[in-house]
Amino acid sequence: MLELLFLLLPIAALYGWYMGQRSAKKDQDTIHNKFSRDYVTGLNFLLSNQQEKAVDLFLSMLQKQESENQITTDSQFEAELMLGNLFRSRGEVDRALRIHQALENNENYSFEQKLLAKQQLAKDFMSAGFYDRAENYYITLLDEPEFATHSLIHLISIYQKTKEWKKAINVAEKLLKIAPDTDRTPLAHFYCEYAQSIKEDTKSFLDALNKALEYFPSCARASILLGEFYYQKEQYHLALKNLEHILEQDPSYISEVLNQIKNCYNALNQSAQFELFLIRANQIKHNSSVDLALAEFIEKKDGSEAAQSSLYQQVRQYPNMITFHRFIYYQINQTENGRGKDNLVLLHSMVGDRIQKAFPYRCLNCGYQSYRLNWYCPSCREWETIKPIQSIDEVI
Ligand SMILES: [Zn+2]
Repeated sequence: MLELLFLLLPIAALYGWYMGQRSAKKDQDTIHNKFSRDYVTGLNFLLSNQQEKAVDLFLSMLQKQESENQITTDSQFEAELMLGNLFRSRGEVDRALRIHQALENNENYSFEQKLLAKQQLAKDFMSAGFYDRAENYYITLLDEPEFATHSLIHLISIYQKTKEWKKAINVAEKLLKIAPDTDRTPLAHFYCEYAQSIKEDTKSFLDALNKALEYFPSCARASILLGEFYYQKEQYHLALKNLEHILEQDPSYISEVLNQIKNCYNALNQSAQFELFLIRANQIKHNSSVDLALAEFIEKKDGSEAAQSSLYQQVRQYPNMITFHRFIYYQINQTENGRGKDNLVLLHSMVGDRIQKAFPYRCLNCGYQSYRLNWYCPSCREWETIKPIQSIDEVI
């Protein structure tokens, strides 16, 4: 039904053009009568659900009208433009391109109308996957104030697809200048992507990550990359500073760096500080990976009974499979051999299977699940919406 309504849009415009033409020139009456008959035929095709025939008829009407050198009007232009868009939306990009290219090359149309045709041609080429052709059209539209924002948004989309991060950064920064309220998350990730592509150049790598944080201070990814960099350089204080900052930026990602944080404290002979960090982390946002790290730490320090007691508190307050699985493990160790212990072992195994089958990452925006952390969701095409499930208590 929606498609039918959409099909009616160009017809409405064509009809307006037809009415205007009819009153303009009497000597074109014959042509107009033919147009009228064709129009009614096309409409009948639509109403009888023969959309293919209707589209073919409208296309032939437009071609005929062009060959007969009729006077061009705004409504005619709009009708042709919409018909091209209609073809594109139906996946018939070749036809859309033919129509829009004819509009661009038609000398009867104004400069402004040709700009509109260029914009639609860019979209056609995008749909066809010819990003370089689309890019050229969008670049030519950048100097036109009415088209600049739209063109910048689409250029960003192209450079994301082609992974040309430096270009994506330049375009996103231009967009930010003319639209300061634009979401800065993508720009920060372009800087992170760029930084990862030039890792060998330490100065440029660090500059890019600092730029990411400058534009978007909550960019946990930039802090993770900085933390990893300093960790590898054995600059543990700087590594900790960046990695722990994730708690303030987005604590959902803390599970990604817990091991590094633990290793930093161990390297600095400050292992007790790690326990304080874990307690603070769980106070900010509960995370089952923090539960497990804390239990492991307490087990080494005070034994398994104390670790189990800590987990018991967490499971009661934040019921989730991951913490519960470890809790059963401690319970098994403290249970005497017999049927009760056997049942616990079975339960532990069943819960473990369930956890293993679950995807470790999930997009909070669209529900897309994955086995690795993607900063860009391939399903809903949003940045930073995929989170580790340890931070989502209700997932498993
Ligand atoms: Zn998504």
